[in-house]
This record gives sequence, C-alpha cells and structure tokens, in this order.
Amino acid sequence: AQLGALAMEHHGAYERLLHQGYHDALTGLPNRLLLNDRVKQALARASRNHLQVAYLSIDLDHFKRFNDTFGHDAGDALLRELGQLLQSNVRGSDIACRYGGEEFALILPDANLATAQERAERIRKSAKYLDLKHAGQALGAVTLSVGVATFPEHGDTPFLLVRAADQALYRAKAAGRDRVMLAETVADAMPPTS
Ligand code: GH3
Ligand code: MG
Ligand code: MG
Repeated sequence: AQLGALAMEHHGAYERLLHQGYHDALTGLPNRLLLNDRVKQALARASRNHLQVAYLSIDLDHFKRFNDTFGHDAGDALLRELGQLLQSNVRGSDIACRYGGEEFALILPDANLATAQERAERIRKSAKYLDLKHAGQALGAVTLSVGVATFPEHGDTPFLLVRAADQALYRAKAAGRDRVMLAETVADAMPPTS
C-alpha cells in the first residue's frame, strides 16, 4: 500500500510538472508550446474533414504604458483578468492561450472568417469594460487589437496561419489599435517582397 501511495504521489507530481510545462503560471492558460501542438492537431483534423479553422492573435494596446503608469503588479493583474475573460469566451473545442508577454491567441476549430470576426469583436468590446482594480485602486481602461486568419484560406500550415493573423494584427496596430483586422488575401501570408 505504501509503495502504491508513493507511486500515486509520484504520478501526481509528474502530472503537475507536465501541466506546468504547458501552462502559463500567471493566467493558468495553455502556453505557446501547447498552443503549437493544438494548432497542428486542429489543422490536421480540419484538413481531413475539409473544415476551416480560425486563429486570432490578440495583443494588448500600449501595455508598456499601462505598466509604467500603474506598476508591474497591476499589469500582472490585468493579464490575469484578460486570461479569465478569454477563458470565459471559450467553448467546446476552442482553445485560448497566452502566447507570451501581453499576447494571447484563440483557436476556433470549424469557425469561418465571419464567425471568428464576431468572436474577436466580442472579446475586444468586453475588454474595454473590464472593471480593473488593483490594491484598492481603480485602473484605467484598456484596449486590445486582434488579427484574424483562417485555415486554409490565409495559411495552410500552422506557421503560415499564425503569420497571417500576426500580419493582420500588425495592420490593426498601424491603423490606430482597438480594432479587429482580418487577413484579407493570401498576400497577407506571403513574405514581404522588399
Ligand atoms: P502596442 O500597442 O504596440 O502593442 O504597445 P505595447 O506597449 O503593448 O507593446 P510593447 O511590445 O512595446 O510592450 C509590451 C509590454 O508588455 C512590455 C512588457 O514590460 C510588458 N509585459 C510583458 N510580459 C509581462 C508580464 O508578464 N507582466 C507585466 N506586468 N508586463 C509584461
Ligand atoms: Mg501590446
Ligand atoms: Mg506585443
């Protein structure tokens, strides 16, 4: 029985380590490692079944300024809130993840561009109404920008799909932030020509 208990304990520790390696400590969301796996799986499944997959790149606007104004702990609190917001927007086989820093990602299996755009808009709007408080102090409102791309239209590999979404996100930033931009053409997924 003791050996059994020891084995169970080890198993538990192993599971915890495994979980930690694939999840972000601050938000509890899957990290980039797990996301990459999931994107691959989602694309393989979609391609077998001739389905689409939508991918959202989500980035907080002027987060450096937020940190500078309210402090790094408040910034962390905001990231946690945003993680919860994303998690509460996730359903079924969707996957929300902390890509790194103040960048998040959402995979929507079976979603087309229009559906993905709606979801992105909903997230963008809810982020504006986050009632942020830290250490008893009310924090300023935040906005975020989102780039949306779909498999296979904008990228038929994980790399190209993520890059198409990132390029749409970049356009959202350049156009003034606090907006959702869609990958429009395959050109979005092509390397720049100069
Ligand atoms: P943009 O609107 O162009 O995205 O501007 P930005 O300031 O959000 O982007 P930038 O890449 O210049 O800065 C990102 C900031 O995110 C800088 C970094 O200190 C902060 N950051 C990254 N990870 C964390 C974290 O875990 N906690 C906190 N508090 N800040 C973080
Ligand atoms: Mg940012
Ligand atoms: Mg960023």
